[in-house]
Amino acid sequence: METLKNEFDAIVIGSGPGGATVARELSQHGKKVLILEWGPNKPLKGSFLQMFQDCFILGKSMFMTKNFLAMVRGITTGGSSRYYCALACDPPVERLKKYGVDITPEIEEIKNIVPCEPLRDDLMSQAAKVFMDSALDLGYDCQKANKYIFQDKCHKDCDLCLYGCPHDAKWSAVNFVDDALEYGAEMINKAKVTKIIVENNKAIGVEYRHKKKTIKAYASKVILAAGGIGSPVILRESGIEGVGHNFFFDPLWFIWGKVDRVTSGKGVPMCSRIILEDEGIVLTDHNMPHLVKAIFDFQGFKPGKAFSFSHMVPLQAKVRDGLSGHIGKSGWVWKGLMDEDKKKLNAGFDHAKKILDNAGAEKIYKSPLLAAHPGGTVKIGEFLDTDLKTEYDNLYVCDASVIPHEMGLPPSLTILTLGKRLSKHLLGQDKAA
Ligand SMILES: Cc1cc2nc3c(=O)[nH]c(=O)nc-3n(C[C@H](O)[C@H](O)[C@H](O)COP(=O)(O)OP(=O)(O)OC[C@H]3O[C@@H](n4cnc5c(N)ncnc54)[C@H](O)[C@@H]3O)c2cc1C
Repeated sequence: METLKNEFDAIVIGSGPGGATVARELSQHGKKVLILEWGPNKPLKGSFLQMFQDCFILGKSMFMTKNFLAMVRGITTGGSSRYYCALACDPPVERLKKYGVDITPEIEEIKNIVPCEPLRDDLMSQAAKVFMDSALDLGYDCQKANKYIFQDKCHKDCDLCLYGCPHDAKWSAVNFVDDALEYGAEMINKAKVTKIIVENNKAIGVEYRHKKKTIKAYASKVILAAGGIGSPVILRESGIEGVGHNFFFDPLWFIWGKVDRVTSGKGVPMCSRIILEDEGIVLTDHNMPHLVKAIFDFQGFKPGKAFSFSHMVPLQAKVRDGLSGHIGKSGWVWKGLMDEDKKKLNAGFDHAKKILDNAGAEKIYKSPLLAAHPGGTVKIGEFLDTDLKTEYDNLYVCDASVIPHEMGLPPSLTILTLGKRLSKHLLGQDKAA
């Protein structure tokens, strides 16, 4: 066993939206920060192969849960945000307040440092315009969505967001990691943290695997941000039992319809959205690369559809699922759909079909089920106090796992704001205020 020579003010485990925000804020204020990231830190190519390597390794970054529902996460610098669709949804402020967490000020603070605005009209995809026009015509409250996109770098009719965006137009947690490194943080990639070192009920460091060695690193504070699946696994190994149960994963499917007046299947995904809060359903347009669509078509036993692309209008219907399931010892995801979840998914399909029908679409069909946002595995109020501290002193959690209730919305803005709020607490700024 080796030990890192340097001692740190803070070790941040994981570099997704939660970890990257805390690492950036602490290092900007002069703290000595070490980021330990399981994944690599390769330059973005914007290719399917790179996404495959980071997101499709069974048991590591991809899981097949009950009901044959596939789920992926990014094991790479930036976490899943490297491959996300850059849709920013306002956090559930009032629900979080019920758990004693008020993130109202941090929302604006984050929006001031990341791009977060609706796309310009000329960057909207044809599919998004068809979706919006038809939905508005039917009386839905369909609005342009806030996007984490540097619009001056965004390319019209480009569909590479999902491959990470090779044009640097998509903001992701990688941008915050880059800032942190510039402010003096250190990052070790391909470092898989296995457990937290605890002495007298106090976290004093972490143990991780790197280049086939087990290494110990020490710090005054440890911030666990390994994501909704990763964090409970590490906590259990560190002696905190009961985590990793009753979580959400926001199941979804894609729905396609052929609309002849649409001539390009390409474009930025999730430019517009309908939030049906009472029903727990979110509908969006959802362009994706042809190869990804073809994979869904083959997976759904519809190989004949795999060659149709240019005239297709793709929508996504995502629902707020109930809390259930558990994360296995090695991180496998065990969760099925409850009857209520299935009803919501069917209702989501019905809404999408109605909108596509109204747009004159033909040959409407849907993909197999997927899920993309595992969270609520280490809930505030159950395992964490309102400052995100665990039962161990100096050990905090900051990622999707802390969300204490069902979600049904893309959670990255919520996680970024929680990261900002935790950073203020660690820097003592909350007391000064
Ligand atoms: C395809 C896709 C599209 C999405 N689109 C959107 C969207 O448009 N809008 C939105 O808001 N959300 C979207 N999401 C969800 C969003 O990306 C995640 O909710 C968000 O990234 C979660 O942030 P996090 O900090 O909790 O964890 P993650 O992003 O999962 O980051 C966790 C990090 O920890 C690392 N890690 C894990 N285990 C260990 C370990 N043992 N040791 C060291 N490091 C470890 C991982 O490699 C990763 O870097 C999407 C997700 C996917 C997969």
